[in-house]
Amino acid sequence: MNTEKKALFTIFGGTGDLAKRKLYPSLYRLYKKGYLKKQFAVIGTARREWTDDFYREIVIDSIRDITDSPEHALKFASHFYYQSHNVTDVNHYDTLKKLSNKLDEEYQLNGNRLFYLAMSPNFFGIISQNLKDRDLITTCGFNRLIIEKPFGHDFESALKLNNQIRASFEENQIYRIDHYLGKEMVQNISAVRFGNYIIESMWNSRYIDNIQITLSESLGVEERGGYYDTSGALRDMLQNHILQIISLLAMEPPTRLEDKEIRTEKIKALRAVRLFEPNEVTGHMVRGQYGPSLDDSSENLNGYREEINVAPDSQTETFVAGKILIDNFRWMDVPFYFRTGKRLAKKGTQIDIEFKNVPLNLFDNNDEPLPANILTIYIQPTEGFSLELNTKKIGLGLETETLKLEHKHSAETTANSPEAYEKLILDCLNGDSTNFTHWDEVATSWKFVDVIREHWDNETVNFPNYASGSMGPTASEQLLITDGFKWHWCPNEK
Ligand code: NAP
Repeated sequence: MNTEKKALFTIFGGTGDLAKRKLYPSLYRLYKKGYLKKQFAVIGTARREWTDDFYREIVIDSIRDITDSPEHALKFASHFYYQSHNVTDVNHYDTLKKLSNKLDEEYQLNGNRLFYLAMSPNFFGIISQNLKDRDLITTCGFNRLIIEKPFGHDFESALKLNNQIRASFEENQIYRIDHYLGKEMVQNISAVRFGNYIIESMWNSRYIDNIQITLSESLGVEERGGYYDTSGALRDMLQNHILQIISLLAMEPPTRLEDKEIRTEKIKALRAVRLFEPNEVTGHMVRGQYGPSLDDSSENLNGYREEINVAPDSQTETFVAGKILIDNFRWMDVPFYFRTGKRLAKKGTQIDIEFKNVPLNLFDNNDEPLPANILTIYIQPTEGFSLELNTKKIGLGLETETLKLEHKHSAETTANSPEAYEKLILDCLNGDSTNFTHWDEVATSWKFVDVIREHWDNETVNFPNYASGSMGPTASEQLLITDGFKWHWCPNEK
């Protein structure tokens, strides 16, 4: 039996893309599962003038594909209210407060409030300040603030933003979203490690040769060129998602699977990430920008510089790869390679853990070394695991072959697995901040990224340097070859 949660949700940016594509469907899923029943209400706010009825139509439209019935959708949507609101206008908060208090009473919400900032981070400071100054924060019940990425564009701006928000909300009331942390298989990293002694006992530099993390997107920037051209892959992906995944892979076992315990271990791991000196950036990091697809490609795709709202001489990277080292007892000298980019050969996120080879090859493989054992965690769109093992080939000789033990969740299971946003909203309702990023994590990650950004910003680079549909620039292959490794996942190899 799911426990009903009582809360008033106020969504800033209620007319925006994120609200429509992710938030309303996630709230509906929680409604379907009984976490939200009668005692909840949602206020959508944005500048445009909408009526409640029009807003409800938008909400119903956003859940059309997942709804049980039109009646059910209508009942759900009846909990939604629209309030036209300019976040920079102090007086508008008074109107919002009146509506909030009215709904609180009507739905008996006990002062529980969840403020979702689904809009530009430029407004996060002013919204939090006004929520406090205009008394929208209740004295009874809980008050929680969910914030979307990006959290600053470097350490200084993140610190400034954090100070603004902290003037109104305590750290334990702030839920910084990194939607990768809501993904089923990312959460499964801890289960694989700490639920299997056979794995955790080998989870260190004695047995692991290197770890490879790939977050590959097949699409280009689409219509987000304007935003992306000011951000780039380094800020958009490394600072948050990739460093978060690395912290989960690298952390020590927590004493309990609880937010404070896990967070302590993640922060320790992130602090052990070796900061580059400026002259080390080039040897450890690769950047790229996609050009058009190759001539023989069936699809004729534009290069990044031809995309809408992108400067024709843009120096923004759409690809980044790197080698990260973690200076602690467990991980000394084990490279954590990562790559992420747009317009790559195939969409997919996976982690490949390459174990050390046997010390002596006893088998007859024409003097070839035995392939390394690889544990793969498939994060999306496929969810599952595989383990590659060497076994004897059937026959008279002593040749080996590599077998792949594989479990991939069925399409049905994957389709039914909770959406990242659904899980994260529920976590927030439960006051569980395990899968959100703490300020200390944000700060440490920015400090790592800032050194790279500063170095890159001082050098002009010859872009584009990879074709749409490839797996990024050749320098990304070279990064591993120099160390005697290769990318395990090569979707572009026929
Ligand atoms: P969006 O579609 O541009 O929505 C922005 C919202 O802000 C609109 O509802 C807009 O409505 C409102 N707004 C703008 N200025 C306002 C003001 N002065 N007062 C009140 N409302 C104002 O943006 P989005 O794609 O939903 O993204 C929202 C946030 O989520 C951003 O931080 C983004 O980086 C993050 N994010 C989005 C996605 C995604 O898939 N979309 C994914 C990850 C993170 P009006 O014009 O009516 O005011």
